[in-house]
Amino acid sequence: MAVTGSRMGVVGGSIAGCAMAVAGVRAGAEVTVHERSDGELRDRGLGIVIPPPLHRRLVDAGYLDAAMPTAPVATRVWLTRVPGERSAREFARQPSAVTPCNWGLLWQSLRAATTGARYHRGRPVTSVARDPAGGALVRTAEGEEAYDIVVGADGHRSLTRQVLAPDLRASPAGYTVWRGTLPAGAWAEHRRPLELLRASWVTIGFPGGHGIFYLIPRGGGAGPDERLLAYAIYATPPAGSHDEAGHVRQLADEHFPREWADIVARGEHTAMTCHPVADLHAPLAADPPFLLAGDAAGVTRPHTASGAVKALQDALCLEEALRTSASPAEALRHYARERTPEGARLVELGRRLGRAQVEQTPDWTAMDQGSVDAWCRATLAGTKSYLYADTD
Ligand SMILES: Cc1cc2nc3c(=O)[nH]c(=O)nc-3n(C[C@H](O)[C@H](O)[C@H](O)COP(=O)(O)OP(=O)(O)OC[C@H]3O[C@@H](n4cnc5c(N)ncnc54)[C@H](O)[C@@H]3O)c2cc1C
Repeated sequence: MAVTGSRMGVVGGSIAGCAMAVAGVRAGAEVTVHERSDGELRDRGLGIVIPPPLHRRLVDAGYLDAAMPTAPVATRVWLTRVPGERSAREFARQPSAVTPCNWGLLWQSLRAATTGARYHRGRPVTSVARDPAGGALVRTAEGEEAYDIVVGADGHRSLTRQVLAPDLRASPAGYTVWRGTLPAGAWAEHRRPLELLRASWVTIGFPGGHGIFYLIPRGGGAGPDERLLAYAIYATPPAGSHDEAGHVRQLADEHFPREWADIVARGEHTAMTCHPVADLHAPLAADPPFLLAGDAAGVTRPHTASGAVKALQDALCLEEALRTSASPAEALRHYARERTPEGARLVELGRRLGRAQVEQTPDWTAMDQGSVDAWCRATLAGTKSYLYADTD
């Protein structure tokens, strides 16, 4: 291995940072992670869906612990509210195998696999720069360190990306996603919808948006079979609204079948956050000695369920590139060739899905199995997504 002993600095120690650190250690590099936060990152919770084959590959390769609880399902169910009523109508069902994870448990599992790397918490990086002597310099309050490779895994506001693409800005999609969770036990009276969620993930369409619902492991010391009900609701917020939680509850009450509106109406949310949706894609995923991973390299709309997936695949790509290249610079060029187009593809896919499912929603009440299949195929236009396996 030509990169054995290379010094790799990682800026950011979240999903992408931990995965890249594991990749570097496995390929023989000396890895140091600088994470700004000084606490555990577990509270960022909520649901992260990944493809089952990627989950298996990460477990087999030692990135994830096989014991990390997940809540896999194989089917997607499409519902809408019957006009003039509060009941649900199922209008389509598609094969869609996903492995829903709890963000906190996923991070903890990746973090546990970084033994072999130095992981510094509470250490914000204040600047990164090319080293005139070769390699790169990373500055923190503790001083300056020199590396052969610097990985920017510092999220969508990446400081590292400033070196590669100083003028790049995110383009807002013009709508928002509200996401939250509720202990599944608190919804137990809705027996049939809960049974539906034990076997599938659910999309509920309404004019101007949609919501998705799925179960994830509960974590926080709960038993492996205890679940959280996770949801994400996409819509355009009214101008000047400051009561985000109030707005999404009102929206659910107006558009969702009764049981599903009830999830959003409950006051017991363990988490309720609102994110503006945006697109961002770095024109080059690496330029030696710098490399971007996860959201630092690009942000795709969450309809693709692939921001964390991309970060994990970035790590697998880096490991292979480091193992098979004659030098760190060659490995980074290999990485850029593979990961730059994949980031662009996902951003474009997210735009297409957003247009179809939020910006120009169909008349959901008129949809049936055939029209949903045809509409999904038209939206994807030949692009692959693990969420739409049957539209190939
Ligand atoms: C509603 C929603 C649903 C989603 N669902 C899915 C899904 O189902 N599947 C999926 O794959 N993805 C999903 N995603 C995307 C996924 O959550 C993100 O892509 C992923 O978590 C990004 O991880 P990251 O490590 O790149 O960035 P982050 O988690 O943002 O981590 C960046 C880290 O860098 C640190 N940092 C920043 N600046 C500095 C600095 N100067 N010095 C040191 N440290 C620094 C931060 O503290 C942070 O820990 C979803 C996103 C949203 C909003």
